[in-house]
Amino acid sequence: MRINISRLHHPVTALGPGTRAGLWVQGCSIGCPGCVSRDTWAPGDGTALDVDDVLAWLTGLGDVDGLTISGGEPTEQPVALRALLEGVDALRRDGVFTGDVLCYTGRDEADFHAVLPWAGDLIDAVIVGPFAVAEPTDLLWRGSANQRLIPLSERGRQRYAPYLDARPEQPPLQVTVEDGQVWMIGVPRRGDLRRLETALAGAGVALAEVSWRPR
Ligand code: SF4
Repeated sequence: MRINISRLHHPVTALGPGTRAGLWVQGCSIGCPGCVSRDTWAPGDGTALDVDDVLAWLTGLGDVDGLTISGGEPTEQPVALRALLEGVDALRRDGVFTGDVLCYTGRDEADFHAVLPWAGDLIDAVIVGPFAVAEPTDLLWRGSANQRLIPLSERGRQRYAPYLDARPEQPPLQVTVEDGQVWMIGVPRRGDLRRLETALAGAGVALAEVSWRPR
């Protein structure tokens, strides 16, 4: 079984509690206006990875606090996603993986459960709802006020209770440079990307192509 991904990354500290593994799926047909991840929209731009290879990567990371799945739209690969998360669950039963699973989706809560009726068995918490550019928010890990963080399991309820209504002064953001690309992890607030571009320009770095504007 293969899953079409945009990228894997560790450590992720800006999308979920603790130090986490991050998997960004490739492919999203929802098309929220103002989406900052337009590079993850086209399914053909992804890399098809064997689910077992993703699980081996996760195992090789050692002790992580969780796995965050974002994208792209994870629910558009329901069969591969389920195979991956059943594998994660097996790692958990073996004591190899002790973290939680957090999943982002642009679907609303009812639609998410309709597409992934097994979600409550394999996902500990979900952040639901499309990105709404006209509804800015300072809620932790969310890009717009309509998006809700919903625990699905007992582990999720315990882990995410302190964060449901958390509103940090600054959103957690990571900026990394890989293969000549500047890559930001986290959910920026309105104006953050313009400030990043301006700061980079001030340092003599001009961004040729960015994921938040059409190509
Ligand atoms: S915000 Fe998420 S759901 Fe909306 S278009 Fe972007 S990747 Fe898709």
